Amino acid sequence: MNIKLTAFAAGVLALAATPMTLAQDEPFREIVNITGDLYRATNNAHHNVFLVTDEGIILTDPISTDFATWLKGELDERFGVPVRYVLYSHYHDDHASGGAVFEDTAEFVGHDNTVVNLAAEEGNEVFAEVRAPDTTYSDSTSVTLGGKTVEMIHALPSHSNDSSIIHFPDERAVFAVDFVNVQRVPFQTMSGWGPITSWIEANQNLQSTVDYDIMAPGHGPVGTKADVDDTTGYLEELLAAVSEAVDAGMSLEEAQASVLMEDYSDWAQYDAWRALNVQGVYESLTAE
Ligand SMILES: [Zn+2]
Ligand SMILES: [Zn+2]
Repeated sequence: MNIKLTAFAAGVLALAATPMTLAQDEPFREIVNITGDLYRATNNAHHNVFLVTDEGIILTDPISTDFATWLKGELDERFGVPVRYVLYSHYHDDHASGGAVFEDTAEFVGHDNTVVNLAAEEGNEVFAEVRAPDTTYSDSTSVTLGGKTVEMIHALPSHSNDSSIIHFPDERAVFAVDFVNVQRVPFQTMSGWGPITSWIEANQNLQSTVDYDIMAPGHGPVGTKADVDDTTGYLEELLAAVSEAVDAGMSLEEAQASVLMEDYSDWAQYDAWRALNVQGVYESLTAE
């Protein structure tokens, strides 16, 4: 239930922040090249990446049935090879829906917990269009197609417990969703599978585990490995500042008024989510 509201609110808020003026009901969609044969596709505030090889395409999150249908048409037209793999970043419906569009040609891969989480949502309409993975892994796995290899590494639990770091070694690029941001504050109260310390650890673990240059997140702009360090810095400063406010006996409202994180005021969603970030950390620190 929480997930349902969260995913819906994410879309609405992110859309409201999109600078482009769009006709009502008309989604903003595009495909841009990141590097080499790695591309990024956009559906409003959501992004995936895909790698084109001679033998087919390795795709990440399908995002939605409508978007996946559009994307399939574009891929057929531009590249003329089928999608052979769909690699899930995590199970949330706003990223993982729509996979059935590719199921006649693709194998679906996700973390072990993705299957567990989807089973727990059985009967929940919100997850009705999320096609479960055929193949799952525990610590890491890889797929190889057309001479290209893509790795999936289990991220430490934070935003979710089934998040994959999807690594494109030849392109020196990573696709990671929701626990990682590029110049964007985390979503609302950062609810999920752990307190802020787990988010810090998940980001640090990504940085120490994977050798890469390009960070392509599921929301917001493409950045670099250094941007993920900046996000870790934001989380650490936020934790320190809210801890100080709690130690000083401040109420939540006082903490929200005092922890302004001004160095990050130009980050996306700062105005909308900074106070909610403070709230999430405040509540986790003061919970018994
Ligand atoms: Zn998510
Ligand atoms: Zn998301």
